[in-house]
Amino acid sequence: MPLSGFGLMRVLVVEDEGQLCEDLRQVLEHAGYVTDTAQDGLEAVRLGLTEVYDCVVLDLGLPQMDGVSVLQRWREDGMGAPVLILTARSRWSDKLAGFNAGADDYLVKPINMDEILLRVRALIRRAAGHFSPMLTFGPLTLDTNSGRVTVSGVPLALTPQEFRILEYMMHHPGRLVTRSGLVNHVYDRNAQQSSNVVDVLISRIRRKLNMDIIQTVRGQGYRLAVPKA
Ligand code: CA
Repeated sequence: MPLSGFGLMRVLVVEDEGQLCEDLRQVLEHAGYVTDTAQDGLEAVRLGLTEVYDCVVLDLGLPQMDGVSVLQRWREDGMGAPVLILTARSRWSDKLAGFNAGADDYLVKPINMDEILLRVRALIRRAAGHFSPMLTFGPLTLDTNSGRVTVSGVPLALTPQEFRILEYMMHHPGRLVTRSGLVNHVYDRNAQQSSNVVDVLISRIRRKLNMDIIQTVRGQGYRLAVPKA
């Protein structure tokens, strides 16, 4: 299947095999996910507890701290992101330990890259309470697989960054979305973008939408709200 569309969300890949880690990062970024990587268990614990992710891909066999222990630490500290575990071992006891520690899904190596994308997308949708790749809000529809956006059925051309902003907001309809939350979901942690960039993107999206569907919450961020008739 084609790796099309702009995923939009933020994913952490924990994998100590350098080439596989890099392959996973490339596949996820190509699909539009902002992707961070960690190659040992301690770094994974640190990132998982200090950054916000929409999904984590976690290898079980890791240096310094094994994946099951990493997952236990995250869950004990309230880290709630969906976790897809990878294991070279197909023994049921390993998977069971992973699920008991709070995993949401697993894949056995060798990994099929299309399969991993499907699983990551499904986990993010499920965590956001959406079972369809199509998000709708008022007259707005957004297809997370194809990257198509329409307003009252009319296709709208957005840049990838504008799409990421709108997709994130449509995953949280009617709720306050902070500017820093948007920055974190559009750029990876090394990008150091200011929240002014988000304001610029929002104003461009508003101009293209040509309706009052994105409210400003003064000093905090933005909220998707159905325009008044
Ligand atoms: Ca490993």
